[in-house]
Amino acid sequence: MDISQIINELAEDREEYFNAVAPPIIQTSNFAFKKVADLGKAFEDEMGGYLYSRGLNPTVDILRKKLAALDGAEDCLVFNNGAAAIFAGIFANIKSGDHIVSVRAPYTWVQRMFDVILPRFGVTVTYIDGSQVENWKKATQPNTAFYYLESPNSWDFAIQPIREVAVLAKTKGIATLIDNSYCTPLYQRPIEMGIDMVVQTATKYIGGHSDTLGGVLCGSHAMMKKIFDSEYLNIGSGIQPFNAWLLIRGLRTLPARIERITKTTAELVQYLRNHPKVESILFPLDDSFPQFELAKQQMKGACGLFTFVLKTREREKIVQFCESLKHIMMAVSWGGHESLVIPKCAGIPPGDFDPDNREHRYVRMYAGLEEAGYLVADLDQALAGL
Ligand SMILES: *Cc1c(COP(=O)(O)O)cnc(C)c1O
Repeated sequence: MDISQIINELAEDREEYFNAVAPPIIQTSNFAFKKVADLGKAFEDEMGGYLYSRGLNPTVDILRKKLAALDGAEDCLVFNNGAAAIFAGIFANIKSGDHIVSVRAPYTWVQRMFDVILPRFGVTVTYIDGSQVENWKKATQPNTAFYYLESPNSWDFAIQPIREVAVLAKTKGIATLIDNSYCTPLYQRPIEMGIDMVVQTATKYIGGHSDTLGGVLCGSHAMMKKIFDSEYLNIGSGIQPFNAWLLIRGLRTLPARIERITKTTAELVQYLRNHPKVESILFPLDDSFPQFELAKQQMKGACGLFTFVLKTREREKIVQFCESLKHIMMAVSWGGHESLVIPKCAGIPPGDFDPDNREHRYVRMYAGLEEAGYLVADLDQALAGL
């Protein structure tokens, strides 16, 4: 399907609401019935219609249909944030005694779920270097029920051979879920590569303005219904109508923003990789990236986030660099209009900082919608001060 059609027309029945170009926010908790039999039907299959907005809601449905189509999936559930979407996708597909194989260093709250919550239910996790399909095969046990992928990772951009891992999982009857937040469906479509479920945080590129949270889980209709009937309704972490409306609005400009950010990112990467005070840069589509060939094969593009290492062993210099930026803000998250940096050392107690561990020296940058020259000038003055 055409991306422009998905974003501008799909699921929008404008005649139903005065031919308004922007859809209404159906801000209601419940829906009224005239017939007891109809109410009975809604109880039986809540995903079949509107009953109560913890389940389906018409504004949320517009968003759901668009997001499913963008991912090339049969169906989609939209959550209040990405972490909730991932939690539901995993929780619905494991039981006590199961084993999960996961990429090392997945998103913070996924790692928390694996390390803190799931052990309480007798579920174990093996973290692997996911770059080779052999590593997945070796780590698989008779009780492995789930493969967790994140490609690329949002700090070091480690990627997995998605098609090969999907084939392996299918032969063993193992469920697969990938965090596709970095690429979005514009740059990578894992459902078409054989992955069962795709997650992306809508907080980042889909929202695009750092003013709302959301999470997308896409997959087969049967899988989405299974999750809707249990985790989605039970945890109650579905997105609210107003936030869904903001995400529909964000979607309208997604391709334009991604296109601009892609150009800006290329300029910043080029600037930094040639700078004498920069030791190295990590960006999946830079030819110095260790998995550059695989990245080119399975990703249509890359933009926004990249990581660089300054030529210094001193924590203070990294701190000084980040604190001397005048326009680029220091904050978590990414995908909005504003450029950001975050140093890895912010999460490491100063006494544990080890300059021999390159990761400790990572500075991650997100390129937003500002003019590239404005950002380069800011980086330039901060680097000059070192
Ligand atoms: C932010 C993020 C998430 C979680 O999304 P929230 O909407 O913040 O819950 C998951 N994965 C990645 C890679 C992220 O960057």
